[in-house]
Amino acid sequence: MVEFTVTILGCGSAKPTLRHHTSSQIVSRLGKLYMIDCGEGTQMQFMKYGFHSEQMENIFISHAHGDHCLGLVGLLSSMSLDNRYRAINIYVPSGFVDILKAQIDFFIPRADFDIRICPIDCQAPTRIFSDCHFDVTAIPLFHRVPCYGFLFREKEGGRHIIPECISKYGIKFSEIERIKSGADYTTATGQVIPNAELTAPPVMPTFPTPSR
Ligand SMILES: [Zn+2]
Repeated sequence: MVEFTVTILGCGSAKPTLRHHTSSQIVSRLGKLYMIDCGEGTQMQFMKYGFHSEQMENIFISHAHGDHCLGLVGLLSSMSLDNRYRAINIYVPSGFVDILKAQIDFFIPRADFDIRICPIDCQAPTRIFSDCHFDVTAIPLFHRVPCYGFLFREKEGGRHIIPECISKYGIKFSEIERIKSGADYTTATGQVIPNAELTAPPVMPTFPTPSR
């Protein structure tokens, strides 16, 4: 299992104070970022922690109270000014879709990237997202407005072939995917090399420590 990190960009409620920013968290795995909530001032915190918006393709908004989403359009506007080209997906409670879309159309009419708004509307825990790192389940919560928590369930990473083994055993390129999937390897002389000797578990790369 590969480690991942959660960074709290803001944990204050209702309005920012000098000590607390409004709600936003970043889940990070292998350099890919996932944002949960985007209160006012989130993009300042985002920069302060050394994150880059190009690392992020998915934003999850728990509910349409300002302290959880008033920073979103500003962040998207900055992405547009930074000439972003990659699409971004934004998961929001369905009742927020039209308002958010109107704000985006008004403030960011010429974005060069797709802003995909994905409505969440469920009465029971429902998987709303999946990629190579996570399954994300939206969990309905009690609040004055429709509100969801997000469960990030980590996926097991694939094993990597040990580069030295390729030349040592003369492994053909066409065999590599099979070995990464768990197969043993039989050399030209008939020697069977167990998969555990040829592969290693996924390695967590090191990234610079975010600065505050
Ligand atoms: Zn609220």
